[in-house]
Amino acid sequence: MATANNTAKSTDAVKQITYLAAALKAPRITEAAARLADQARDAGWTHEDYLAAVLEREVSARNASGAQLRIRAAGFGAVKTLEDFDFDAQPAIRQQAGALASGGFLTEARNVVLLGPPGTGKTHVATALGVAAARHGHRVLFATATDWVTRLTDAHRAGRLPQELAKLRRYGLIIVDEVGYLPFEQDAANLFFQLVSSRYEHASLVLTSNLPFSGWGGVFGDQAVAAAMIDRIVHHADVLTLKGASYRLRGRGIDSLPSIRTTTDQTET
Ligand code: ADP
Ligand code: MG
Repeated sequence: MATANNTAKSTDAVKQITYLAAALKAPRITEAAARLADQARDAGWTHEDYLAAVLEREVSARNASGAQLRIRAAGFGAVKTLEDFDFDAQPAIRQQAGALASGGFLTEARNVVLLGPPGTGKTHVATALGVAAARHGHRVLFATATDWVTRLTDAHRAGRLPQELAKLRRYGLIIVDEVGYLPFEQDAANLFFQLVSSRYEHASLVLTSNLPFSGWGGVFGDQAVAAAMIDRIVHHADVLTLKGASYRLRGRGIDSLPSIRTTTDQTET
């Protein structure tokens, strides 16, 4: 009789959990509560252990779907991760990239600059750091330098540049791919400078460039603007230099062309 009574109570409780979990918009609680209840009884968990285990399932599922949403919203050309990256092709950055993937640079509003010739994996690593940031709960936006300038120019013309910069500061990470691919007009360079200034010591930037810093004066049309910008970017930054031949051309016999041969020639074996 007592057993029948307990079963009835627990059925009521299960129904109530289903209702309450739906009200909390936490559907996984219903499933976890039922499944973990048996486990808890068998293993003699305390009430606290059980509650913690149930909530943990909901939170980790939320984090995973939150990360997926942030990755989709970031605007990556293609989603790439550090697990997909062949560090044997870039052994010099293995440790630095691994440390950055833990996301510590974001909480300190530090920047990352990836320099190197075409095809060496700059966009791949920048994207991978963005994916890692999204997984750590940061909002991320990825675009090329040209796209950023277009976006800032549009905001400026509409008289809402300050609002746009304030909005962008709410993103923990902004990735600027291909700095130096095209030179900027004076106005564009100034807008880009404002983006860099507005994030300085507030939120992180990851930038990639085919050019060494010494070539940035030509991109921004003005040595003084470039110098002031580089100063703010690298004040708190990790600079990763990728080397060698294009990964795209590996194994195609093209990396031995004189125009592509580099000092650290990576001949395929
Ligand atoms: P970059 O931006 O320096 O021009 P990308 O990051 O676009 O180069 O790399 C070119 C292509 O080669 C991409 O598809 C990228 O995923 C791949 N790639 C480059 N380096 C590596 C690597 N070390 N391991 C795996 N894939 C790589
Ligand atoms: Mg690239």
